[in-house]
Order: sequence, then C-alpha cells, then structure tokens
Amino acid sequence: MLSSESFLSNAGESSAGHGVHWHAMDIDETRLALSAAAPLVASEVAERLEQYGHNRLPEAHRRGPLARLGNQLKNFLIYVLITAATITALLGHWVDTTVILAVVVIQTLVGFIQEGKAEQALSAIRHMLAPKALVIRQGGQQKIDAAELVPGDTVVLEPGDRVPADIRLERCNNLKIEEAVLTGESEPVDKTTSTQPSDAVLGDQLNMAFSGTMVATGTGRGVVVRTGQSTEIGRISGLLQDTTTLKTPLLEQIDRFARYLSLIIIVAGLAIFGGGLVLSGLPVRELFMAVVGLTVAAIPEGLPAILTITLAIGVRRMATRHAVVRRMPVIETLGAVSVICSDKTGTLTRNEMMVTAAVVAGNRLDIGGEGYEPEGDIRDGSGIAAGSKLLDELGRAAALCNDANLKRHEGTIRVAGDPMEGALKVFAQKAGFDPETDGRQWPRADEIPFDAEYRFMATLNHDHHRHGVIYVKGAPERILEMSTRMVTDSGDTAALDRQSWTNAVSELASEGLRVLALARRPADPSQNTLAVEDVEEGLELLGLVGLLDPPRQEAVQAIQDCHDAGIRVKMITGDHAMTASAIGARLGLKNTARVITGRDIDQLDEDELKQVAGEVDIFARTSPEHKLRLVEALQALHGVVAMTGDGVNDAPALKRADVGIAMGVKGSEAAREAASVVLLDDNFASIAAAVREGRTVYTNLKKAIAFMLPINGGESVSLITALLLGLALPISALQILWVNMVSSVILAMTLAFEPTEPDVMKRPPRLRDESLLAGFVVWRVAFVSLLFLTGIFAAWYWAMHVFDDEAVARTLAVNTLVAMEVFYLFAVRYLDSASITLRGVLGTPIVLLAVGAVILLQLLFTYLPLFHQTFSSAPLTPAALAFATSAGVVVLVVLELETWLRTRWGRGRGSPVSSGSG
Ligand code: ADP
Ligand code: MG
Repeated sequence: MLSSESFLSNAGESSAGHGVHWHAMDIDETRLALSAAAPLVASEVAERLEQYGHNRLPEAHRRGPLARLGNQLKNFLIYVLITAATITALLGHWVDTTVILAVVVIQTLVGFIQEGKAEQALSAIRHMLAPKALVIRQGGQQKIDAAELVPGDTVVLEPGDRVPADIRLERCNNLKIEEAVLTGESEPVDKTTSTQPSDAVLGDQLNMAFSGTMVATGTGRGVVVRTGQSTEIGRISGLLQDTTTLKTPLLEQIDRFARYLSLIIIVAGLAIFGGGLVLSGLPVRELFMAVVGLTVAAIPEGLPAILTITLAIGVRRMATRHAVVRRMPVIETLGAVSVICSDKTGTLTRNEMMVTAAVVAGNRLDIGGEGYEPEGDIRDGSGIAAGSKLLDELGRAAALCNDANLKRHEGTIRVAGDPMEGALKVFAQKAGFDPETDGRQWPRADEIPFDAEYRFMATLNHDHHRHGVIYVKGAPERILEMSTRMVTDSGDTAALDRQSWTNAVSELASEGLRVLALARRPADPSQNTLAVEDVEEGLELLGLVGLLDPPRQEAVQAIQDCHDAGIRVKMITGDHAMTASAIGARLGLKNTARVITGRDIDQLDEDELKQVAGEVDIFARTSPEHKLRLVEALQALHGVVAMTGDGVNDAPALKRADVGIAMGVKGSEAAREAASVVLLDDNFASIAAAVREGRTVYTNLKKAIAFMLPINGGESVSLITALLLGLALPISALQILWVNMVSSVILAMTLAFEPTEPDVMKRPPRLRDESLLAGFVVWRVAFVSLLFLTGIFAAWYWAMHVFDDEAVARTLAVNTLVAMEVFYLFAVRYLDSASITLRGVLGTPIVLLAVGAVILLQLLFTYLPLFHQTFSSAPLTPAALAFATSAGVVVLVVLELETWLRTRWGRGRGSPVSSGSG
C-alpha cells in the first residue's frame, strides 16, 4: 500500500492535506484518500513520519545564546562598572580600568552560564509534560506521544483531552469541543459525524476536531487528516505557548528590592561624591573610586542569579521525585502547604484491583485467584458455585459493559484502560465468560460513557439472533435507584428488595471493598442508539461485585510524614462512604470515624462547611464541584491547600487551590493544564516528597539571602562610616569587587545545593504570608552586617597599629572579611539548629570544595606579586592570618549563641487548619 501517492493526488498539495475539504467528504472517502482503511502498521507510520514530520508546532520563540548574552548586559551593576571603566580610562588609571572590565566579563559569563543551566533544567521538564494521544494502530489501542501521530492514524478522544491533530470524526458520543483557541467561541461545539457543506467555515465544520482545542464532554473517534504545522492552529499562529519561566513572587520581590537599593545608592553616591569634593579634600580619583566601591558594595547583584539557580535545582530535584512543576511560583507555596486533599483511587491506593466478592440473589460469593490471572474459584457457602444462569449473565455484563483490555506481556497480564474494568474482565472469565467466542457474539451498538457526575456506564449490545440488551454498571445507590426488579438464580426476575441489597452493599463496603452494581434491561432489536432516558428506570439488578484495592504502602508512610510536618491529609473520593472510611483507617488518616458525603456537603452553607471541612478527613461520594467548595472552605480557615485532581471538571478546584496537583498518568490534559504540579506516577508519596523539596528550596532561598545581604551590608556600612568620619577606606573599591565577584559568589553558590535539613518535615508549615524579607532575615542581616563591620575595622586598626602599612591593613581587612564569610557560611547552613556539629562541619562536599577554592584564591590575592600590583594587596604574616581566622571563629560562636537563645525562646507558630482536632 503506497499511502503517499493516493493521498497526494487527493490532497492536491504537497503539505499534509491543506486545501482539502475533509469536512465535505464522508468518512470512507476520507480514509480512502488517506490510505487508512485499516489501523496503520508500524512501517506505514515510519514512512509517514518521514514524509510529514513530527506532529509538533514550532516551540515558542526561545532566546538564542546571543540574545541571552545581551540580556546579561542589561543589568544595573554592569552599567555602573562600564561607566567606572570609562571614567578611569579617561583619567588614565589603566589598572583600574582593566580590573573593572575583567569583572564585567566575568559577571556576564557567570550570569550567562547560570541562566543557561536554569534553562536546561526547565526544558528537561517541558519534555516530561509532552502531550499524549490515544491512538488505535495495528495491535490495538495505545497511548503515545502526540508528536508521533501521522495522517491516517485513528485517534480516540476523551473528556479533558487536548485534540492532538486535525481529525475527521467518525464516531461521536455526546462529543462537545471547546474551540476558543481557534474561533474565539467559548461555548463548546456539538460535534457530529455527518458530512458538512464544503463552504463551511471553521466554526461550522462540525465533523472535525481541530488540534489544540479541548474536549469538554463526551467521547469520540476519528482519523487524523493534518498534523503539525499543517493543522489549522499551526497555520494561524504556529505558536505553542510556554509559561515556564523562573519568575516567582520572591524573585520579583528581590528584583524590586535591588532596583530600589540601586536608586538609593546612586543618589547617595552622587551626594557623597559632591559633598566629598567640597568638604573632604580627597583627590578626585580616590573619591570617585570610593563611590564606585560603595555602589558595588551595596548592590546585591549576585543574589538574583543565586536564587534562580536555587529554584532551578529545586525544580530538578522535584522532577526526580516524580513531581513536575508547571508554574514556578508554586515552588514557594509548596513549602507552606498545611492541608493536602488527595484522591483515593490510584493515589492513596495501588489501583491494582481484583474482584474478591460478589452478591447475587441474596448469596455472598467469594472469588479466589491472584492479580489479573484469569484462574480462580467462585465459592458460595456450600462450595464451588458455577453454571448458574445468573452467574453467566453477571459475567457477561461485567465483560461487555467494559472498555478495558487485558494483554499478556512477558508472562504478566497488563490492563489497557481502567484497572477496575480490567478486574471486571478477569472476574467475567472466572464466571465462565470466554472473551474470544462470547465477546464476538455480542457486538456493541452504542454506549453511555462513565461520567463521575452520574457514576454509571451503560452499553447497548446485540447478538446475532437479533436480541438486544442494555448493560449498566455503576455505584450501587445509583443502580438501585434505577432498578425495579432483580434477576434470580434461575434467570427469571423478581421484585427488588431494596433494603437487603443496601445491607449487602454496606457489608462489602465496610470490608474496604469498592462496590459496584451490575444491571440489565432488555432492548428492542431495532434499537441502535442509547440515551440516558433508556436506563433511568426499569433496570433488572444482576448483582454486586466487591473490588479490593489495597492501600499503597508508601502512602501510609507519607501520610505519617505529613502529620509529623503539621500537614493535615484529607481524602476526597467518589467512592462509597464505608469503603472510604475502611481504607482511610488503613492508611492512617486522623479522623476516620466521621465521613461526610457530597450530599451532606450540598446541605451545608459556607460557614457550616468551614466548620466541617476543618474537622473531617474523609469526603465520600463527592463530585468535582464539591472539591471547589472544599478548597474555598479550607482556605477560609487560613489553610494553604494542595488539591489533587484528574478529570476535566476538577480544573476549577485545581486552579483555585494554592497548589493544584494533576495526575500525570490517568489525568486529563485539562487537569494537567489547570494544575501547577503534575505527578508523573500519580502517587501520594510524591506529593509529600514535593512538599519536602518545597520546604528545602524555601530554606535554601532564605539561607542565600541571609548569606549574601550581610556581606553587602557590612561592606557598605564600613565604607560609609569611613567616608562620613573622614577615615581612610579599610577596603578599596577594587578589593570590594574582588570579594563580591569571587569569594562571595563561590561561597553563596553552594547554598543552592544544600541538601534537605533532616528535621525539615518535623516542623509545622510556615504561615502563608510569612515574608522572606521580614522578621528573622532582617534581624540576621542587620546583626551580621554589624559583626562584619566590627571585624573589618578591628582588622584595619589592629594592622595599622602593628604594621603601620595601609596596604597590609587593607589586605588583612579583606582576608578577615572573607574568613568571616567562610565561617558565616557554616552558620547560615543551619539557621535554626546548632552549626558546630560533625555533620555541620563536614557538610556537603561542595561546601568544602568551595571553601578550598576560596582559601587558594585568598592566598594568591595575598602573596602573588601580580595581585599586589592589581589590587594593591601585600603579604601578611602568620599572626595576621591567625587574626583573620579568629575573627571568623568569633562570628560563628556569636551566631551559635544567638541561635541557641532564639530557639530556646521557641517559636509559637502553627496553622489553624493543621493544628485542628486530632
Ligand atoms: P475515586 O474517587 O475513587 O477515583 P471515581 O470518581 O473514579 O472514584 O468513581 C466513583 C464511583 O463511580 C465509584 O465508586 C464507582 O461506583 C463508580 N465508577 C467508577 N468507575 C466506573 C466505571 N468505569 N463504570 C461504572 N461505574 C464506575
Ligand atoms: Mg477517579
């Protein structure tokens, strides 16, 4: 089959099918034109990929290296430095000019490389979130990267999917698609399969699904006619918006802070320069360099870069823990989470289901076997039960009202589709249903897909003897409502005894089993379509099945960790209250005695819900709208709420939550796009891990700020003091450049790699509005600035007293400052606990490496003649080096004392939600 030729002759154009009125062709013509009468085989796919390219839109404009380099130069410090270099050159001070220009080059390169690293971390993550498509190829239905789609592929659409390519629909089940990205029309469009007039505009091509639009409800299937840039969206814009940048509220706050500071410094610098010229009588050059030094000293230019790196490393660490951050600001919020609302199935439980019990005609049956293997006995009280007409029929209903497929892969059976339906298929086989022969005998004519809102699914099947039957399965309360009779052992029907069935449901549910009811209704042979009215009443109940879905062991541990960390864990499920309660108890949730259902929530007003939401930990039979109300209620209690979701209808709650978490595996594209975090493994333990990383990032940011700012503070206060008192500068402008651009940056960089402190999950969450630039950090910055100021002047005066040489005194002041930084680095790594510990001293290897590098550089600075000429430094005696070191030790000891006093006074923190009952 030579696909391309017939296709091209029809398409009449070289690109993938533009100009062809696919909507005006019927589906057979379409498939013929695409040479896609049957599902594509691997070789055809490869051939077409070669011909049409991958199904990708060009990525949103990514800045090239040159643009990024240019961006580095748009930086206030660089302007100051270039101005300074120009002026020093005009004055003929070539050494100064050279050093300043060297700093410009280094600063630019370092920034450039750091930004590149951060970009790399982000693009790796972008790749993890690549869109998927459900495709039918030879070998059955499979999920693939949407980029691998080719014209002629058959694609299945489900609620919440982004349509992966331009598709001619051939099957629609109540399919509505939201096409705002293309047409601007926000009302979802009802789709059909029938041929449309050839002059229909885009919005009227009702039998087409266009790439980039979103399935609002219903399901559908169709054949891909255009991919990649040939799609409608590819033609109009070709852009794939990309929101991943490393901008967070904190970074913006720091940027603003730096800008304000710069402004103040410039004004102060000019004032000092002017005043100095008139009053101090210092030579112009010295005064000018003093002002340059002050500017460099005061602006924390290295800080934003270090914070960016810290965030990027945090993002990468989270990704390795299977939590992918989609919106950067959430990285700061994650650390403050005080309530996590989690789905049950698949997140807290393993979603590896097995039918272990059934109830038919009042008899309890126990089903044996292991996993998805189709062997196992069905026993009732008196022995093996088999061969009853009722059991046959129950098995047929379980197998036919079912979209899952079982495949044997390297000896083990895998489920394609919903694991619960997979378990039902296995059960059907145990009950005697043969998927090969019986399956073919009852083809499906129509279906009502499962909807979390209605909690049931129905199919219409016909056998070859013109019998029609509707099978329904769903939540037992729903099915009992819809049923009027029940099927008996002999296959006849009898009146339904609701009470005894309700009791049977409770019994199964209280064992922690997920309970499902199965029912049927005979259909007219001529009936070919299925509507909700057909199943709303008059069903004949076949029986109940109970499915075991064991808790994830790692979730039990993760819930415990969350409780230790002052985070309340709440389970929100569509499942039955008693099932939820039994599973919740096994998971170790706090308050499992009281379960609130969606129906209860509907009865409560805002205030009552606020009350209940804080106390109750299990919410059962909820639908997506309840999630939104719960988020709002918990937020009103000052909780910082993380909420999970997977369906289209979960999007509003995910958006509203402080941290919206979507399931990467079973979640819809709509949920993923609404969320700020996507879990790659749908596992609750990954949420706990993300919170832990979030707390780590936050403390590392705090440490970087607490480390960098006092250095700037100490230096600038020293210079201002000297200038105001008319003293000689204890450190020269070029020396300050050296300290800030070399030692400080190397040391501060290590903080981005700081591992999680061991007790990070033993503390209560920080309060939502706690600002990093307030309280403790401000105190620390002021206090340490003062320590540095004292150290610098002590070094200067001591050296002047002993050696009476300004060059030596300045060199000692620089070395003292750097020594204090090194010891302060060790102090800052454990802000709230003792730093002088074995772990603290040995620390991270990278810290020791950085300290080694800084010591080496300081030795060069002090003893290498080249540096003497450049920085006016001078060799120091061992006594002087000892002085510098002791100043560092003093700083560490003083801060250790401060930490001890501070933590002894305790911190009366805690969140109202997490410290509720329990
Ligand atoms: P959960 O919160 O555990 O993920 P769901 O919202 O997926 O719950 O399901 C809620 C209820 O809907 C289930 O307890 C079950 O009774 C019913 N249900 C779930 N999936 C199906 C399905 N494929 N067919 C019929 N009923 C279903
Ligand atoms: Mg679910």
